[in-house]
Amino acid sequence: MEYFGTDLHKGLSSREIPLKKKLFGENQIQEVKKISPLSIFIAQFTDFITLVLIGAMAISAYLGEVADAIAITAIVIINGFLGFIQEYRTEKSLQALRELAAPTAKVLRDGEIKVVPAKDVVPGDIVLLESGDRVPADGELIEAEGFSIDESILTGESVPVEKSTKPGEEAEMKIHRRNLAFMGTLVVSGRGRMLVTETGMGTEMGKIAGMMGKIEDEETPLQQRLDVLGKQLVTASLFICATVSILGIIRGEKAYDMFLFGVSLAVAAIPEGLPAIVTVVLTLGVQRMIRKNAVIRKLPAVETLGCATVICSDKTGTLTENRMTVRKIYINGKTLMVTGTGYNSEGDFISSEGRLFKKPEGELKRLLEIGASCNNAVISRQKGGLFGDFIKTRELAPSGDPTEVAILVAALKGGVQKENVDSTYRRIREIPFDSNRKRMSVVVKNHRGEIFLFSKGAPDVVLSLCTRIEKDGQVRQLFKKDEDEILTINEDMGREALRVLAFAYKKLTIQEMDDKDPEHGLVFLGLMGMIDPPRPEAIEAVQKCFSAGIRPVMITGDHKATAWAVARELKMITKDSKILTGRELDDMSEPEFTKCVDDVAVYARVTPRHKLKIVKALKKKGHVVAMTGDGVNDAPAVKEADIGVSMGISGTDVTKEASSMILLDDNFASIVAAVEEGRIIYDNIRKFIRYLLSCNIGEVLTMIWTSALGLPLPLLPIQILWMNLVTDGLPAMALGMDPPERDVMNRKPRSKGENVFSGGLAKRIIYRGVLISVATVAAFILTGLYSKGDLILSRTASFSTLVLAQLIFVFECRTERRGIWEQNPFSNIYLTLAALLSAGMLLMVIYVPFFQPIFHTIPPDRNLWMLIVALAGLSAVV
Ligand code: ATP
Repeated sequence: MEYFGTDLHKGLSSREIPLKKKLFGENQIQEVKKISPLSIFIAQFTDFITLVLIGAMAISAYLGEVADAIAITAIVIINGFLGFIQEYRTEKSLQALRELAAPTAKVLRDGEIKVVPAKDVVPGDIVLLESGDRVPADGELIEAEGFSIDESILTGESVPVEKSTKPGEEAEMKIHRRNLAFMGTLVVSGRGRMLVTETGMGTEMGKIAGMMGKIEDEETPLQQRLDVLGKQLVTASLFICATVSILGIIRGEKAYDMFLFGVSLAVAAIPEGLPAIVTVVLTLGVQRMIRKNAVIRKLPAVETLGCATVICSDKTGTLTENRMTVRKIYINGKTLMVTGTGYNSEGDFISSEGRLFKKPEGELKRLLEIGASCNNAVISRQKGGLFGDFIKTRELAPSGDPTEVAILVAALKGGVQKENVDSTYRRIREIPFDSNRKRMSVVVKNHRGEIFLFSKGAPDVVLSLCTRIEKDGQVRQLFKKDEDEILTINEDMGREALRVLAFAYKKLTIQEMDDKDPEHGLVFLGLMGMIDPPRPEAIEAVQKCFSAGIRPVMITGDHKATAWAVARELKMITKDSKILTGRELDDMSEPEFTKCVDDVAVYARVTPRHKLKIVKALKKKGHVVAMTGDGVNDAPAVKEADIGVSMGISGTDVTKEASSMILLDDNFASIVAAVEEGRIIYDNIRKFIRYLLSCNIGEVLTMIWTSALGLPLPLLPIQILWMNLVTDGLPAMALGMDPPERDVMNRKPRSKGENVFSGGLAKRIIYRGVLISVATVAAFILTGLYSKGDLILSRTASFSTLVLAQLIFVFECRTERRGIWEQNPFSNIYLTLAALLSAGMLLMVIYVPFFQPIFHTIPPDRNLWMLIVALAGLSAVV
């Protein structure tokens, strides 16, 4: 510590960090590759269609068709820029996402515990480690309580290694030393503090440069399906284009014309923009989710979210506020009320007869002392504003487990301060809390050399370890009658939605001090009941779930009565709802459980392994399950769930790595918001798939009808290219950002295996494609008759009709359930602007003289415009 300039109690000073970072570098194994905008830009010109176009451009130039060559160049460049903008934004936001999901570390700096990105840890930092954490760097342990680490990632050894602050028998290899912790390994139990000695590439992990938990950008099932569809379309259209072109040449058309025609028909048939727009829409959606506090780690989750049928959620902190306050204390056979709210040390203990305990003594004082001693939370007084140093405020600044904070606050109300208790009872050892044991104990020694074990935990658990009871100054045997009474009180407090903890102690002999299992034969002292109010937004979110056909399920380590009472306040319970406890679950066979799993709304007193059983049963019933988790042991269930959800604040690294989504605010309402967003994204993807495919079908059919009728080409290759690569793209993108339809959260979840084209979408796409092509061919023929065979004017008319029909159609694609007339055309401002811009570009190539020879256009007169608009609109009316 001296070497690094670290203070044992304060850690490093944050002023030194920048220098240290410069000296030792970032704490990272691999340098993150920065994406260069240039490489993204160049990549735009390497896809298949663009290469074909560049080839076509070269051939046109070679044959002296300068106008075509210029037009194709312009189209390729504009298309390249549009693609670049899309992809650059996508890449940027994915990068931001990776940073958000990056691992963090708890470090002691300036005397405070701070959460920093793991890459900012420097040698000399003191890092706090708890079960579930990934060790962020290499270091020496300076504190270890029941501390063990899974080092399999380094050593391949799957049994966790127990660590201590002593090196143990001097091991030959560094990685076998007991007092060292290594980057990337996983804390499985206990707590510890470590002085960081090596970071980044200097760590053992850096030396073998292993894989670290990183965000996976895999393709979503929809993207995979679209890839397959795209490939099929490419093959089919290349075949058709080749056939049509060759037939044309045989008929005596010019080879060059037929070549260009083949190329443009291919462009018309292949929805080349589709995959890119899907990616953009997914990423934009992911960004919107971040704004709603949900960070997606695995892209496929975006789609799966929209299919969720059950959301299994932890109670504490997710459905409730996790701001606990002790309300009742049961001691000496009596229940006392505790007044005062929040993190404020003002409050009293009042008995049912109205007696005030101003200065607690005897059993009550002992209860508060045990609560303060068997406790890892910290409370400091906040400095209040300008005169902070002069005015003593009562508002407290706590840190640590909210259950323990509540106990410390209650102790303060009785004048018991943790610092004083800790100096009277010096802690020798801790047996940490975990949600399987549901209790915590400490071994302490007082000035007289007496050794005690203090325990607190779930009443049913603690009571089963007690053989005696202390009441009114006397310790005597614990009878069945006492037990029954305590359990009844526990049950009553639970029904008032209170979380209840029992407190017990015993005196130890020196020999018993290091016993592996000293928690037995305890003296029961009393109970504390604390409230943890439901989050108001969770109550609303629960209602949203019900109307969206999603079943919310509560899974908690708390007592049955407490869980049920809280679930009732959250309005999660319907008249058929059932509650199951972990024990009841154990007693059921798998088929028995699967049979009733649909009715269970609340699981109480469960341990993390039950969560896995619940997920499996639900999945077997065909449900798509979202499951939350925070602790290490939750990771398997989170991994097994269709949508694993981890907690950003209270979650451990392992659970985060196993999850597909992280909640930044640990809030149930954020899961529901993410589900809603998932549905919106999927809807929007369907919208522009419908749009783009209908347009493509319309274009191809237009060509097929006219060639079947033996008419000249109704659209020139350049016009087809302009339409496909310039005027279609923007409206399709804008559709991807469409606001949700009113009923997104009022319909049933869609089924997971559902095809993108289900619900009659395929039929609608084809039907619409046919209508558009018929309108276009009609415009071509009618203009031909009207103008007595002016081919350029007729082509301008069919070109305009096709573009306008598409621009009207795009508004129709905004809903599958209502007509185009039933919606506000301006509610998606992007779409309005995109449609106007595309219409503007159409007018530009018709009216600007420079473009007229390139695009072979002549401005139509007023009558013709009326015909064009009528035909374009007609398909919408039909
Ligand atoms: P969830 O977040 O899943 O709802 P929970 O917070 O309700 O979980 P646990 O944290 O596993 O459940 O707690 C289970 C029980 O253990 C509690 O009902 C309480 O009696 C007891 N308990 C909770 N925290 C502590 C603690 N710090 N020390 C001792 N006992 C505790």
